[in-house]
Amino acid sequence: MISPDMADQNFEELINKYNFVPNRALGQNFLISRRAVLNIADELELTPSDVVLEIGAGTGQLTRELANRARLVIAVELDRRLEPLLTSYLRDMHSVDLIWADVLSVDLRDLLESKGLQPDTIKIAANLPYYATTDIMLKLFADLPTAKKMILMVQKEAVGRITAKPGSKQYGPLSVLTSLYGEIRTFMKLSPQHFWPRPDIDSSLLSLTARRDLIGADVGLGTEFVDFLIYAFQHRRKQFLGRLRKEGKFDQFLLLEDAMSCFVLDNNLNSDFRIENLLPEQLLELYKRAVAAESYLSS
Ligand code: SAM
Repeated sequence: MISPDMADQNFEELINKYNFVPNRALGQNFLISRRAVLNIADELELTPSDVVLEIGAGTGQLTRELANRARLVIAVELDRRLEPLLTSYLRDMHSVDLIWADVLSVDLRDLLESKGLQPDTIKIAANLPYYATTDIMLKLFADLPTAKKMILMVQKEAVGRITAKPGSKQYGPLSVLTSLYGEIRTFMKLSPQHFWPRPDIDSSLLSLTARRDLIGADVGLGTEFVDFLIYAFQHRRKQFLGRLRKEGKFDQFLLLEDAMSCFVLDNNLNSDFRIENLLPEQLLELYKRAVAAESYLSS
C-alpha cells in the first residue's frame, strides 16, 4: 500500500490501527515520501527558536519532522476524525499545538498574537488540500502578509495561476499577491506515488520567501487589499475607470476620481486601462491611492 520511500513505517500501522478512511473531499492525500518531508523541513531552514504554522496536519508525518527542528509547531486541522490517531502519533512531542478548526474561519493573526507571537517571525508549511488551494493561499496573504517564509505543496496545474504574469489569462489576485509577497521557486515535483491515497495529478513544492522591502508592516497589505484585488479582477477585461463611473463610485467617494487620474498620469497609462494589464506593484499603488481617497473601492 505504502511507497517504499516512507522510512517511517509507523504510518501504515497507524492507519490500520485507527482504521482511518481518508476523505478525498477534504483533499486528504497524505504525504508518504520521507524525502519530501525532509526536503520541506530543510527548505524552511528551521532553527530551534523558530515557530511554524502548519495548515492541515493530516496524519502528522510532516508535523513531527517540523516539531523535531523548531521551538513550536502550531498545526491547524479540520478533520476531527484524525484526533485519536494524531494525538497518539505526536504524544511524545511537547512542541506541537493542535488547533482543530477550519483554517478559512480562523483569524490567523489573532491566533498567533494570542500566543504572544509576532506574525513576521512565523514560517508556514502546508501540503494544501487541493480543493482549497486558492482560498487558503489568499487567506495566508490576507492574515499573515509578513510571514517570513512559506513552503506550499500545490497541484501542478495551480503553479501557472500562482506565477502568472500581467496580461495572461491566469493572472489574478493569487499571482499578484504571490509576486508582491516575495521570491518564489519550485524546488520539488512529486508524482502521485508520493501520496496515500494517490491523487490523479502531479504536485509541486513551492518555496516563497518574503521580500521585506515591500511588505513592511506599513504597506497595508492584508484583508482589505485581498478584497480589493478580488473586486478589481471580477471584470478584468473591462476599462476599470469606466466601470467605477458606471458603479457610481465617483459619486460615492468624491476624491476618488482625482486619485485615479493622478494614478493614470504617474504611471503613463491611458485612462481606458484594464486591470489585467497592471503590474502587481501598480495594483498595490492603485489600492493605496484609493485608500488615501477614503475608499476601498470594493465596498
Ligand atoms: N500535512 C499532511 C501531509 O502532508 O500528509 C496532510 C496533507 S493533506 C493534502 C491536507 C490536510 O488538510 C488534510 O489533513 C485535511 O483534512 C486538511 N484540511 C482540509 N481542509 C482544511 C481546512 N479548511 N482547514 C484545515 N485543514 C484542512
